[in-house]
Amino acid sequence: MSERRVAVITGASSGIGMETALAFARKGYAVVPAARRADRLEHLAAQCRAAGAEATPVVTDVAEEQQVNDLVARAADEYGRIDVMVNNAGHGVFAAVHETPTEEMRRIFDVNYFGVFYGCRAVVPEMLRRGGGHIFNVSSVIGKRGTPMHGAYCATKFAIAGLTESLRVELMSLGVHVTLVCPTTTDTEFFDRTPAGRKAGDGFRKYVSTMSAAVVARKIAAVAGRRKPELVFSPGGKFLALSAALAPGLTDQLMKLYRDDLTERLKND
Ligand code: NAP
Repeated sequence: MSERRVAVITGASSGIGMETALAFARKGYAVVPAARRADRLEHLAAQCRAAGAEATPVVTDVAEEQQVNDLVARAADEYGRIDVMVNNAGHGVFAAVHETPTEEMRRIFDVNYFGVFYGCRAVVPEMLRRGGGHIFNVSSVIGKRGTPMHGAYCATKFAIAGLTESLRVELMSLGVHVTLVCPTTTDTEFFDRTPAGRKAGDGFRKYVSTMSAAVVARKIAAVAGRRKPELVFSPGGKFLALSAALAPGLTDQLMKLYRDDLTERLKND
């Protein structure tokens, strides 16, 4: 049984999750990367092993509770411990609220919100049993302020924030840290999956500079094991979170600029 520290990362086949797996591998953790695309996970596992880490990729659809339970059980069986769980898997929906099909709303909650919930539910008993651990739940800075054309996505990210705050205090003094991760626009495949997504990404980039996934990943790996309630990235992200809390009306006016710009971009499809 390995005495290495162990990190489980969902949504690890690309972007922030993939970089996070690599960041933990470079820190000497054994990593258990999870996502649906097996070929991507195998490639990542090879990179982690090349960096000197053990890696056990596990094909997982986080919308399926049993698969998330199996992922956590597999990591615990294989390594005897789970030090870090990064609930990161997620996708976007780019549509006005009244034009969002109900099925798409349910699907994004199944993946973005329930995926995180299942991850927490499965790993908390394991971490409490060992007397410690660190859970990172990846929300977004637009889980602090709703943005136009992202209502479904924002709703899932607000839900993650609420769940994470509750969990953090429930586990306070029990040795398990819980951190809410709020990236701003990050250079990944996230926006590239649909034409509307690409335009939404271009619209955001007009207002906030794009971060690299490696920056988010390194920050997550750097704070693992330390109490850190939230990671809010970039000056633009911090400004948005602050203005949303202090001046919601003024923030609406800023958001309207983005809405008008994006409406124009979507019209030119
Ligand atoms: P990405 O490159 O598109 O990565 C998304 C990851 O989630 C992929 O590995 C994907 O893998 C996985 N995934 C999607 N549905 C899944 C499911 N049902 N089961 C398991 N895995 C699933 O995008 P990213 O930017 O790295 O996104 C990672 C997280 O950061 C997301 O939660 C996103 O909301 C959040 N975020 C992103 C940004 C941004 O600007 N990029 C900003 C703030 C927050 P498979 O397709 O192989 O399953």
